Amino acid sequence: MHAVSLIVGAPALTLSVEIVPLLADNYGYLLSDLATGAVAVVDPAEAGPLLDRIRARGGRLDWILLTHHHGDHVAGTAELVAATGAKVAGAAADAHRLPPLDRRLVEGDRLELGRASARILATPGHTTGHIAYLFEATVDLFCADTLFVMGCGRLIEGDAPTMWASLEKLAALPPGTKVWCGHEYTLANARFALSVDPDNEALRTRARLVERLRAEDRPTVPSTIAEERATNPFLRARDPMIRRRLGLEAATDPEVFAALRRAKDGFRG
Ligand code: ZN
Ligand code: FE
Repeated sequence: MHAVSLIVGAPALTLSVEIVPLLADNYGYLLSDLATGAVAVVDPAEAGPLLDRIRARGGRLDWILLTHHHGDHVAGTAELVAATGAKVAGAAADAHRLPPLDRRLVEGDRLELGRASARILATPGHTTGHIAYLFEATVDLFCADTLFVMGCGRLIEGDAPTMWASLEKLAALPPGTKVWCGHEYTLANARFALSVDPDNEALRTRARLVERLRAEDRPTVPSTIAEERATNPFLRARDPMIRRRLGLEAATDPEVFAALRRAKDGFRG
């Protein structure tokens, strides 16, 4: 499970992304800037499987990039720091409840990984301090529990308008942006999506594809922003068919989003 992003005409700008399944359904990511060999991990839910991969590559770990404070995204941090001496980056807003941070990040900051560089996006809603990392040169987005494949995170600390604004920010990224999210929830998300958007041909086709991928135990990441705009109901609050189905033709976009999120919370498909 290995992907290398290449920018045509700029061979120095390369970022490899390795998917590392963690716990029951979390995804950790091992990033490497191929120009310099700099390595980062995104969201170490547990250290063991990541350390195995890091040691197999020679033991280098420069950065641990945290998206939010939940245990299933940070619990392996201390062990990785102790084993590798890596530095830790996370949201300044959540410094009091994240592992000790070497970099406190806010919207618009840049974090350098060798010659690669991530722009920080504040994406509150799932938690108040949630951030995403966007590697712009290779359009790789690490958005954890804000945007999932055909789904979005629960509103644990934020309200619907806050989460809707975060999702709109991600939906406005270039269509080819690769979406590397925090969990493999795609099958359940697809079933809910079909229940509110059953006539969406792109969604029906994609649901069949992810059934096949999961039957073979293959990951459904990365997605793309274009695929999410076409099939993720939580980015489609403007869609007339979804609005009609919910009886919300005249509602605002955040109101439609809120109704979708409530329906998903109660969905037992
Ligand atoms: Zn979470
Ligand atoms: Fe999570």
